[in-house]
Amino acid sequence: MMVKPCADDTLSGRLARIKGRIQAAATAAARDPATIQLLAVSKKKSAADIRAACQAGVNCIGENYVAEATAKMSELADLSICWHFIGAVQSNKTATLATHFDWIQSLDRFKIARRLSEQRPLHLAPLNLCVQINLDRERQKAGVNPEDAFALCRQIATLPRLRLRGLMAIPKLSPDRQVQHRSFSALSELQLELADKLQLPDFDTLSAGTSADFETAIACGSTLIRVGTALFGPRS
Ligand SMILES: *Cc1c(COP(=O)(O)O)cnc(C)c1O
Repeated sequence: MMVKPCADDTLSGRLARIKGRIQAAATAAARDPATIQLLAVSKKKSAADIRAACQAGVNCIGENYVAEATAKMSELADLSICWHFIGAVQSNKTATLATHFDWIQSLDRFKIARRLSEQRPLHLAPLNLCVQINLDRERQKAGVNPEDAFALCRQIATLPRLRLRGLMAIPKLSPDRQVQHRSFSALSELQLELADKLQLPDFDTLSAGTSADFETAIACGSTLIRVGTALFGPRS
């Protein structure tokens, strides 16, 4: 009899299991797994951890804190990484964000978008942007309310150095799949409605789902999942 080997608790083992789960969730939803991007979220993890993830095949990295991210970027300058910012955006950090990142996923104010557009260096491609939606209208959370998203997106679409790519949300964590499903479906419907109204060529991204709920997010149409703990292990 074959003995089933223990789950491989190395970074590449965890990555392989995440990929298997993406594949299974996509197949169950009749979606092509290639349409789902994995963003490895590395806040509080070292540059060495990120390097190991890149060696295992990851190429998109998400960070929450500007100073922490730029320190790791200089250590990893030899790698070709697509850097996403997913943390709270402060207006005194926009120049650094506009210079060092490929994507900002956590935008919720026009003033910040305008600064990012003005500060995006001309030798770089336009900065990819997602508007963060506060799905559950939580006071302490960033993001615009769903009903304000269209007006903000329409304004952002006029800025020359930005490419509006879609929406991002961090719904309330719930172990209940039905609750997760309701949140992600609402986000997905908003994304489709805005895509229809805005008619922008690159509005193709729905950033939804983390370690705890990415399968449900994929079932609801997520195109970009943000996974930290399941890949890098718990954060201290
Ligand atoms: C930390 C973080 C994640 C990753 O969460 P995990 O539960 O560790 O997968 C995803 N999105 C955002 C915005 C985060 O801040």
